[in-house]
Amino acid sequence: MGKYTNKSVLVLGGSRGIGAAIVKKFASENAKVTFTYAGSKQAAEQLAQETGSQALFVDSADRDSVISCIKNLDTLDILVVNAGIGVFGDALDLDPNDIERLFQINIHTPYYAAVEAARKMPIGGRIIIIGSVNGDRMPVAGMAAYAASKSALQGLARGLARDFGPRGITINVIQPGPIDTDANPADGPMKDVLHAFMAIKRHGTTTEVANMVAWLAGSDTDFITGAMHTIDGGFGA
Ligand code: NDP
Repeated sequence: MGKYTNKSVLVLGGSRGIGAAIVKKFASENAKVTFTYAGSKQAAEQLAQETGSQALFVDSADRDSVISCIKNLDTLDILVVNAGIGVFGDALDLDPNDIERLFQINIHTPYYAAVEAARKMPIGGRIIIIGSVNGDRMPVAGMAAYAASKSALQGLARGLARDFGPRGITINVIQPGPIDTDANPADGPMKDVLHAFMAIKRHGTTTEVANMVAWLAGSDTDFITGAMHTIDGGFGA
C-alpha cells in the first residue's frame, strides 16, 4: 500500500520538468495518475509507460478542453495545475497574442480547472497550483507578464479557498524559485544572476518541488488552505 493508494490524481502539464516529477512521485505512492501534455507527445508516452499513468493530449490554452477532461474523469481527489509558460523580453516589443496565450495558460485555465475540480471532488479534495516566487518578487526586467500571471494565482487561491472551505476542499499555491528544468536549466545563461539573489546558491530539483506537492496533497494538511508555499532557496528572503 502506498500513501496515495486509491487516490485519483490529475496533473495538468505532466510530460516534462516539475510536472513529470510530480507524476512520478504520486505514481510511486500507488495513486491512479492521469496527466496532460500539449507539445511533448513522445516524452508523455514514455512517462506514462514508465509510471503506469495515463497521458492525455489536452492543451491548457483551451479552457473547454481542460474542463471536459476534468468532467470525464471517473473520480478526482487531487488536482495539480503545473502547466505554465513564460514569454520573456522587452514589454514594448512582445506580441500581444503571445501575452494573451500566457494569461490563458497561466491564469484562466488554473481558475476554471480548480472550479471544475471542486464540483467533482469529495471532502478531503486537494487543489495545488504551481505558481512562482516571481508572484512575490520580480527582480529582473522582461518578465512582467509572467510575474503578473503568478501573482494572479495568489488571489485565485485566496478567493477560491473561501468557496471551497465549506466543501472540505483545500487549495494552495506552491511558489518555486529557480528549478532545474528545460525552462530554466541549472547551467543556463541566467544561472549567475539568479544565484546572486539566493541564500542557497543552486537551482532546486524537480523532486524537491514534487515532495512539497505530495506533502500538501496528503492527509496531514486539512487546515492549510488559501496559502502560498515558497520553495526558493531564499530567493525572496
Ligand atoms: P517546462 O517548460 O520544463 O515544462 C512545462 C510543462 O508544462 C511541460 O510538461 C509542458 O508540456 C506543460 N505545458 C506547457 N504548456 C502547456 C499547454 N498549453 N498545455 C498542456 N501542458 C502544457 O517547465 P517547468 O517544469 O520548469 O515549469 C513547470 C511549472 O513550474 C510552470 O508553471 C512554471 O511557471 C513553474 N515554475 C518553474 C520554475 C523553474 O525555475 N523551472 C520556477 C517557478 C515556477 P508539453 O511540453 O507537453 O507541452
